[in-house]
Amino acid sequence: MNRIQQLFGIQHPIIQAGMIWCSGWELASAVSNAGGLGIIGAGSMYPEVLRDQIQKCQAATNRPFAVNVPLLYPSIEEHMASIVELKVPIVFTSAGNPKAWTQHLKSHGIKVVHVVSSVKFGLKAQAAGVDAVVAEGFEAGGHNGREETTTMCLVPAVSEALDVPVIAAGGIGGSRSILAAFALGAEGVQIGSRFVATHESSAHQAFKERVIAAKEGDTALRLKPLTPVRLLDNPFAQQVAAAEANGSDLEALSELLGRGRAKRGMFEGDLEEGELEIGQVSGQIDAIVPAAQVVEELVQGYHALTHGMTEPRFRW
Ligand code: NDP
Repeated sequence: MNRIQQLFGIQHPIIQAGMIWCSGWELASAVSNAGGLGIIGAGSMYPEVLRDQIQKCQAATNRPFAVNVPLLYPSIEEHMASIVELKVPIVFTSAGNPKAWTQHLKSHGIKVVHVVSSVKFGLKAQAAGVDAVVAEGFEAGGHNGREETTTMCLVPAVSEALDVPVIAAGGIGGSRSILAAFALGAEGVQIGSRFVATHESSAHQAFKERVIAAKEGDTALRLKPLTPVRLLDNPFAQQVAAAEANGSDLEALSELLGRGRAKRGMFEGDLEEGELEIGQVSGQIDAIVPAAQVVEELVQGYHALTHGMTEPRFRW
């Protein structure tokens, strides 16, 4: 058992990323029941929706699960109050200052993990008292670091600089990349895109099918002046690319983005005008399968690759 398995009380150090519109209780409980850690993505949920999702997840699994809260969420106090009241055991925070909520959550016995994209923010998260960090590299889908540091460069740097355990994220979708992450110093992996294309993901079927059709080179980091976000190519992403090439300012980009684009694309299945957030690894995903099958294949593949290896960091 490594530190991540012990920290969360899980069988496999495989964590399903909290993803807006894609990771509700069905996906989170399926991953937790399969021995990983499932995460409810609260960033797209109104407060009453999150409460309902937590209660459904608790009914569907006796195993640990987590909630991801992007710290720029508008009604964050209500989300945090529900998390404490309903005794969610683990919270993953992202997109904001980890000082804001870490101690409050820890004072209620909740384990806290923060997502970072640089050593600098990793050190800040550690100083804020988090139990672990997710080091998420450039390959990841959705919101992304401004520094554009790849997982290959970020994970060893964060692992060397921090004492708390590191979970690698960004570009991980198969057992080879899990082994690579452990070689780079991680003690767990967070996987998003692979779990979008599962039966239990709440993504629209049309988005799931677009994900498995995606090829190498189909995603790009867009809206960098606003908030960098990795998107699949579609007419909306092309409009953004054209606006960026024309030197559009923040106001024009923000107006082009409008409101609710992520919901439209990923939840309502508007593949033309919606935002389709997915990682580079989508080019390697070719089937929509049950989440438990994803976990099982990752674990079996990992154990086949590491068969005969004696280095303790690779054993779990
Ligand atoms: P927009 O401002 O474009 O749209 C807000 C969306 O969130 C709407 O679809 C709305 O649903 C829904 N929503 C849920 N709760 C609330 C609330 N309390 N107030 C207002 N709207 C709410 O935002 P995005 O779609 O780009 O992002 C939504 C959230 O997800 C944000 O909190 C953002 O920080 C987070 N996010 C996190 C990412 C990550 O990688 N961690 C990536 C992208 C976004 P409705 O249409 O039903 O009103």
